[in-house]
Amino acid sequence: MHQNLTTPEPSLDPHRPPIPATPLPDLLDPAWLRELALACGADAAGVVEVEREALKGDAAAMEAMLPGVKSVVSLLARVNADALRGPWMGVANRSARFAEEGVDRAASELSRRLQQAGLRSVAVHASFPMDVHREGRIWPLAHKVLAEQAGLGTRGHNRLLLHPEFGAAVVLAAVLVDRPAAGTSAPLERSPCNGCGLCVEACPTGAIGKDGAFSLVNCAAHNYRFRLGGFNAWVETLVDSRDRRDYRKRVRPEETMGIWQSLTTGANHACMNCMAVCPVGQGRPKPPAPRGKDLVRQLLDRGGQIHVIRGSDAEVHARARFQPERIRIVSSGNRLTTARGFLQALPILFQPGQAEGLEVAVHFEFTGADPCGATAILSQGRLRVAPGLEGNPDVTVMADGPTWVAIASGLKGILPAILTRKLRLRGSRKAFRAFMRCFPS
Ligand code: SF4
Ligand code: SF4
Repeated sequence: MHQNLTTPEPSLDPHRPPIPATPLPDLLDPAWLRELALACGADAAGVVEVEREALKGDAAAMEAMLPGVKSVVSLLARVNADALRGPWMGVANRSARFAEEGVDRAASELSRRLQQAGLRSVAVHASFPMDVHREGRIWPLAHKVLAEQAGLGTRGHNRLLLHPEFGAAVVLAAVLVDRPAAGTSAPLERSPCNGCGLCVEACPTGAIGKDGAFSLVNCAAHNYRFRLGGFNAWVETLVDSRDRRDYRKRVRPEETMGIWQSLTTGANHACMNCMAVCPVGQGRPKPPAPRGKDLVRQLLDRGGQIHVIRGSDAEVHARARFQPERIRIVSSGNRLTTARGFLQALPILFQPGQAEGLEVAVHFEFTGADPCGATAILSQGRLRVAPGLEGNPDVTVMADGPTWVAIASGLKGILPAILTRKLRLRGSRKAFRAFMRCFPS
């Protein structure tokens, strides 16, 4: 039952705009929505209509979360950039965590107030928890795409949303609303990214390329060491360890403590350098705050290990820049469950540096409950994966889907699968081995 809208809700804060005493109009006033979002705790907000072309990738997800959804409010909260830039990762993590909680609270409060005004709405939170049981995308909304459409910023070279005033040190949430707004926000006309390249220099894994390429898997293997993938990998290492001594050889004490910290205080990051170093919107810090190259050096020196996947471009990058004792070889922790998921993961796992000089085309044909196939072509250091089987391949891989998943996950060897005819390989095995080296995990 709707509340009686003739009685204004007493505001929690005298500066907060109250819910209007009269029924809301058929077209919501976007300025009122933005003001309400700021009153609920956001630092910036914008309103977008859900049918906008740029949001079509999320349209079905938004409709599923709130049938009849018409508008979406993107909310942004600042992270304390000074805390991010300091020498203590614990301070940086706590600050980021509180900002995330703050923007989530702001979204929930906005949703609550809209419901009190008789609208239906759902708050979509900033980060974890995610639907980890899903294959592929496990988050409900692409917050950065939405925030760009809401005019809150644009994605910079570091792939983070850059707000013109608050820079990269921001977190995002959203609120879905079942009523259209009269006029919505437009994307910014100019990107605030100045192309300074400091994010490239400050990235310890080389995940941010000078050319604009970004390696999600190399970033996540390091930055998410105490989060999703890292936790998976840690549990399996624990299970594989023969005894306490063996475990201690495989896992350093500070890594065990890092996992404990994340479990008890909230999922912590191992890096965030690209967010910390970006100078956009932060003004000129007064001395002695480090900036520019000094800040890059301070961030790279703030200790802790650099986590890289064996055989990855990140390993090559880190070995050229850090003492061996700072480098920790890890697995990505990504766990495949289907052959289709393997094909979808190829572009994410791809390491262009390992593909130099390699020209090879591979057909994958998977049978089983969900038969699927694709053509993967490596040429001039680039990967193209096309659905279906096209052209004449150098190698053909035919396998039962679950068998291939077990092989790709390191749970089964190729030879037994070939001997039991669950896997058939046609073409050059040397070329196939070289191909697979471009996808370490
Ligand atoms: S979080 Fe760290 S590893 Fe990931 S892209 Fe940013 S700087 Fe690189
Ligand atoms: S650090 Fe420089 S290049 Fe990187 S996102 Fe920020 S402004 Fe752009």
